[in-house]
Amino acid sequence: MDNFAKKYVDGFMTELIAKNPGETEFHQAVREVLTSVAPYMQAYPYLLDNKIMERMVEPERVIMFRVPWTDDKGEIHVNRGYRVQMNSAIGPYKGGIRFHASVNLSIMKFLAFEQTFKNSLTTLPMGGGKGGSDFSPRGRSDAEVMRFCQSFMTELQRHIGQDTDVPAGDIGVGGREIGYLFGQYKRLRDEFTGTLTGKGLGWGGSLLRPEATGYGACYFAQEMLATRGETFEGKTVVISGSGNVAQHAAEKAMRLGAKVVTLSDSDGFIYDPDGFNEEKIAYVKHLKNAIRGRIKEYVKQYPNAQYTGEGTKPWAVKCDIAMPCATQNELNGEAAKVLLANGCFCVTEGANMPCTPEAIEAFQAAKILYSPGKASNAGGVATSGLEMSQNSMRQKWTSEEVDAQLHRIMKDIHAACIKYGTEEDRYINYVKGANIAGFIKVANAMVDQGLV
Ligand code: NDP
Repeated sequence: MDNFAKKYVDGFMTELIAKNPGETEFHQAVREVLTSVAPYMQAYPYLLDNKIMERMVEPERVIMFRVPWTDDKGEIHVNRGYRVQMNSAIGPYKGGIRFHASVNLSIMKFLAFEQTFKNSLTTLPMGGGKGGSDFSPRGRSDAEVMRFCQSFMTELQRHIGQDTDVPAGDIGVGGREIGYLFGQYKRLRDEFTGTLTGKGLGWGGSLLRPEATGYGACYFAQEMLATRGETFEGKTVVISGSGNVAQHAAEKAMRLGAKVVTLSDSDGFIYDPDGFNEEKIAYVKHLKNAIRGRIKEYVKQYPNAQYTGEGTKPWAVKCDIAMPCATQNELNGEAAKVLLANGCFCVTEGANMPCTPEAIEAFQAAKILYSPGKASNAGGVATSGLEMSQNSMRQKWTSEEVDAQLHRIMKDIHAACIKYGTEEDRYINYVKGANIAGFIKVANAMVDQGLV
């Protein structure tokens, strides 16, 4: 960064932090984008004159609401619900709903901000939004989860719609929760529309939507590897998380010939030195999705595997490729050094912002392949966009058709990263590429639409 860009970023961040105190994840996400786009805006001063960045960091609307519900014993609980409608310059707000105890306004705003650029990268007409609650479905019965979802949707329904805001799943919100949320939406609004994505296959969902984020991350990694004449074949892959994204990243990487050796949850990780196969992945899906167990139970089924608890993460396991697929800031500078020392040469984010700024700096300084989630996990929202198209057309595409579109979109995102992120020494800075490519379309749409 030259002097102008550095001064601009520092001044901007000082004001942002003063105006949004304590929102550390939001500050982190804004700083990253700003650092990439400041030199671009300097080259195109109409963006500075239009105060595009100042407008982008201010959500168009933030909705916060009370979510009261009763547990199975009749005790009353009160959670807080959120929907951050960040930017609608290129389409209706679109982004997931997260149910996790850690949810707060900062996390909602960082996710909605990231989503704006990610959705732009997909080339589909979707604006950015995100929602959720500090409610944790973990350990709750189906009936409790249903009552919570119904209460949450009773308020949210007045703010969303197929042409306004189209939520989907995220951490803690899978097929079960989307079903309860959709049921209540339909009941209150008396309409069957594509207002939520990630729906069940029998009632408006798209084939391959559950698989899309993890599969898409692997398609993106394939493109990254190809820039160095490499493939997944024979590579050892370490994955964190064991939810939707992690399961399908593991499945696809394995099918592409890799040996995937770890999965994790917030309690710890499992290491299977033999690697996963179809049967083991099917067991993990059953364990996590059907009986809602913990990942440590894997070693009872496959005693050759080892479990390490106390919240340990899998980054010390020797690998060629790492795919963090759990949550934000789960891979720090120290972990990055260990990965590098062990020979890891490709890090593809499946989660949103899982690597800390120190980790990203270490990967880029070592010139290894590193992609930010807004590029490599965009396959999920892209396929949600395809679900919206199918709903509007009252059609259902085959999984081959959806997979072909997903694959094309991930290749196109990779090409956009190369276009805007290739540096003088030919190193591909995927952070810069994704940020600038995502930014341009939204910024120009905002300029075209005037001061709104
Ligand atoms: P799931 O709820 O299906 O799975 C989340 C996984 O991450 C679980 O294994 C969970 O373990 C673990 N996890 C959650 N919080 C923490 C934590 N604080 N520390 C350690 N582990 C944690 O969510 P998804 O797989 O859908 O989402 C994972 C990531 O991918 C998120 O960052 C999400 O924003 C992102 N993403 C998801 C998309 C999707 O389509 N679902 C699309 C794009 C991005 P535990 O059970 O112990 O909580």
